[in-house]
Amino acid sequence: MNLIDGRAVASRLRARLKEEVKGLQAEKGITPGLGVILVGEDPASKVYVGMKEKACKEIGIRSYVYRLPQDTSEEEILRLIDYLNKNPEVNGILVQLPLPGHVSTEKVLESLSPDKDVDGFHPYNVGRLVAGNPSFIPCTPLGIIKLLDEYGIPIEGKEAVVVGRSNIVGKPISLLLLQRNATVTICHSRTRDLPAVIHRAQILVVAVGRARMVKGEWIREGAVVIDVGVNRLEDGSLCGDVDFREASKRASFITPVPGGVGPMTITMLLHNTIQAARLQMG
Ligand code: NDP
Repeated sequence: MNLIDGRAVASRLRARLKEEVKGLQAEKGITPGLGVILVGEDPASKVYVGMKEKACKEIGIRSYVYRLPQDTSEEEILRLIDYLNKNPEVNGILVQLPLPGHVSTEKVLESLSPDKDVDGFHPYNVGRLVAGNPSFIPCTPLGIIKLLDEYGIPIEGKEAVVVGRSNIVGKPISLLLLQRNATVTICHSRTRDLPAVIHRAQILVVAVGRARMVKGEWIREGAVVIDVGVNRLEDGSLCGDVDFREASKRASFITPVPGGVGPMTITMLLHNTIQAARLQMG
């Protein structure tokens, strides 16, 4: 079994991105900027936004974080997005989800300028991904593909199974695997005989959010296992959606939790923000 070390890959990629930012500054006089909108007090969201802010700083991207109260109206959020859409110092815009219940997530995401939509959630970018001609790719799925590539794991012709069909992970990673010529099966809460479907997988991606739901004996011998899930156990520690100890006896490659997919997500946000800056430069 080989461990897929997301921390190591992320730190290598971030060093490269840092050089890229330096290059942009030296050659074009441009410092990429990311606008981040956080509404309310969700503790996990606050942590994620703090991590994003820190990651930007480390590689030289300017970040503009707007922390708004829980009762901020939809109209105010839309006004702020309009301002950021027009602001040339802001190349990428990210709205931390989930938004409070009185705000329409759909409306907010659709108000983003597609060429600043570094999370890749605007329907324009979703459509381009579906059409096989992506521009901004959602960060977690993009991070997964980079991990597979960094470890030289072939995708073409492989039997891939994705468990979970969310818009942020399950659906986009399925499309990316398909684009790379895997044969893709997508599973969800109504899938029948999940163990049997999972057992077909040469590449397995699990994004459900249930601690150790996927058992070791479901894994096909030699499979590549990508565990996206992040679950907090009663003792405060984190674990994935896959029973790591048992699964690693069968897998050829496997991501740990933490330290697998997680570190790649923010790295891809940095990557997309630099891409946005380049795009806007023309
Ligand atoms: P969602 O809750 O949006 O989606 C979960 C998916 O799992 C749904 O499609 C659901 O099916 C499916 N599902 C639920 N129960 C079962 C079951 N018993 N069998 C099969 N499928 C099931 O989650 P996300 O995609 O947003 O996130 C998934 C996990 O990944 C979470 O733990 C999250 O914290 C983590 N995550 C980690 C990231 C990282 O950077 N490491 C980034 C994003 C997420 P249905 O559609 O039928 O309801």
